[in-house]
Amino acid sequence: MTTGFYRDTWAEINLDAIDENIKNMKKHIGTEQSLIAVVKANAYGHGDIQVARTALEAGAAMLAVAFLDEAISLREAGVISPILVLGAIRPKDVQIAIQYNVIATAISLQWLKEAAGHIREGKLNYHLKLDTGMGRLGVRDKEEVNDVIQFNSKQKNLVLSGAFTHFATADEINTDYFDEQYKKLLNLIEAFDLDKMIIHCGNSATGLRFPEKLFNSVRFGISMYGLSPSNEIKPELPFPLKEAFSLHTKLVHVKTIHAQEKVSYGATYSASDEEWIGTVPVGYADGWIRRLRDSDVLVNGKRVPIVGRICMDQFMVRLPENIKVGTVVTLIGHQEQEFISIDEVAERLDTINYEVPCTITSRVPRVYL
Ligand code: PLP
Repeated sequence: MTTGFYRDTWAEINLDAIDENIKNMKKHIGTEQSLIAVVKANAYGHGDIQVARTALEAGAAMLAVAFLDEAISLREAGVISPILVLGAIRPKDVQIAIQYNVIATAISLQWLKEAAGHIREGKLNYHLKLDTGMGRLGVRDKEEVNDVIQFNSKQKNLVLSGAFTHFATADEINTDYFDEQYKKLLNLIEAFDLDKMIIHCGNSATGLRFPEKLFNSVRFGISMYGLSPSNEIKPELPFPLKEAFSLHTKLVHVKTIHAQEKVSYGATYSASDEEWIGTVPVGYADGWIRRLRDSDVLVNGKRVPIVGRICMDQFMVRLPENIKVGTVVTLIGHQEQEFISIDEVAERLDTINYEVPCTITSRVPRVYL
């Protein structure tokens, strides 16, 4: 694929970092638990096919995505491992899930009944989603779990191979709500033959903090990419996480402007003296959104400020001196002793680290190390 390679902007994905994070997590959770690599949303913006291959080589037993389309795209790229779709597939599309050998998620008894009605041939392999307090998808009480088990037992074309829940507060120090959800989970799974099913409740935070509570699998997402599930639990991570995503470009234009001369839309920035201004060919259409104005990027190992408004495809920086066109500008990542982390960018945007690589658009080519 050559799209995007005629521009000097790239996201560098360190697959060795992903490999290391997975191997450390596997050591941490122990051999009893398998690891499901969460590669939805184009692997949180890192590239689903490359991350999926790395994860499987590092020992992941299964992949998880949000939508059927994401699973199909992995299959069409030649990925043959089990793939679980965590979100709701349209019941009328379950025959497609069967065709691509994709594991579906049953989000309610009604969904399961409708889905069963659309199966023409083969068997639908599925996990049952249990809503223990996330309030998003899943069966909510024991009665519905029992109804699902009963319905399942009468259907030859349904295979219930797993059950799972998702915690709303696993990344918070206070465990009261987590404990409540866990208790509810224990109650809901009483009716299952646990030896015959994959039971998974943990995301990264749960796996990192409570490996003893995982049953037999963990869904490893954000920390596979080297990021902490929250700032709160950062000080207590059981092993160092290695950040895999960095973002770079090159200066395309450098000039001096005089005092009082303006820069960018709205003419909001005015030079206070004679200044060196560099033009950086990245903009909000790449996911470097306008709210990132007044923050820094790295040039020659030093922080330089963004000046003026960020445009669709470009922004400007104030340079300390005349710096050559073609010099690398790092928006996320290391240069010499300096580092702009994804967490720092998230903080500037008043959001979570998950959102940052996801919002770097497909116009930015991903390059793999
Ligand atoms: N499981 C489900 C159902 C999710 O929605 C997500 C992420 O959004 C994950 C697992 C992965 O969580 P994390 O990225 O915190 O590891």
